Amino acid sequence: MAVLVTGGAGYIGSHMVLALLDAGETVVVLDNLSTGFRSAVLAPATFIQGDFGDETLVRTIIEQHGITAIAHFAAKIVVPESIADPLGYYLNNTAKARNLIASAVAGGIKHFIFSSTAAVYGETGATAVGEDTPLAPVSPYGRSKLMVEWILADTAKAHDFRFVALRYFNVAGADPAGRSGQSTRDATHLIKVAVQAALGRRPGLSIFGTDYDTPDGTCLRDYIQVSDLADAHMDALRYLRDGGDNLTCNCGYGRGYSVRAVVDVVKAVSGVDFPVTVMGRRPGDPAAIVADNTRVKAALGWTPRHDDIAAIVTQALDWERRLHNREL
Ligand code: UDP
Repeated sequence: MAVLVTGGAGYIGSHMVLALLDAGETVVVLDNLSTGFRSAVLAPATFIQGDFGDETLVRTIIEQHGITAIAHFAAKIVVPESIADPLGYYLNNTAKARNLIASAVAGGIKHFIFSSTAAVYGETGATAVGEDTPLAPVSPYGRSKLMVEWILADTAKAHDFRFVALRYFNVAGADPAGRSGQSTRDATHLIKVAVQAALGRRPGLSIFGTDYDTPDGTCLRDYIQVSDLADAHMDALRYLRDGGDNLTCNCGYGRGYSVRAVVDVVKAVSGVDFPVTVMGRRPGDPAAIVADNTRVKAALGWTPRHDDIAAIVTQALDWERRLHNREL
């Protein structure tokens, strides 16, 4: 009995691997290393370099390693990139996910956990977005993920197959024990960019838009710590193994921080007053997106342990320092 983690060499996937190993599970990682790092996959997890959309490869892995559940993290995740390259996103995030699901069904896998996103909601105008909010993604990225939720729902109706789709809000921070963190090259996500600016790895930070309909004019996001997010997947795995039905849950803390507020926290925690420039809006950005997390707590029993923005930023800073020192 083993769990296959696609994208396990990436940021969130590597934290899931840690959570699984900590729980004594047998783990197989499938990752093409397009953005992930071999060194992020810690022993005793088995690492296989390859394409999760390759049905022959995945069928072989399922058989050879006795896979009974799949947690699918491998994806492209940058909203502006998805606007520039929609077909690349629909191939990688949607078409290849269809192949992975087909491999799972053919290989007799009954439990599937999918990394979805709050980007499926689009511009909601709500301060706490529940799962039943109408789905109206505003980017190819959001649409590429929403289509996979639909594929999963249809597949679960037709086959002996159940899934949990977790809609991530903004993931940040690092393993509190320092075993993993966000190593992504050319990262674009706010906290990562801000800690790099604080450590002098970038000349400064640009705020994309200060004219949103929010208290300080910058976008509001719900930042969730990456190990808490991995724990939600562990809860999802237990839930499916215990016979739980198909489920889609938000993963966020239910509280929004503005871009300016995050920048202030990074400056305070790092003690560095790095340069900040105001730019125009970035395409595909909803003004505010904050989770209603009632369902993930009630249905999966998820209990966040790291809901502290200063601690999240501290973890991101610590990881960035270590990353840099290792590169020297
Ligand atoms: N953002 C910013 N400057 C940056 C990176 C991000 O102002 O260098 C803003 C971005 O426009 C959005 C918020 O920070 O309003 C969160 O963006 P991020 O890319 O981290 O995550 P997303 O919400 O797009 O998944």
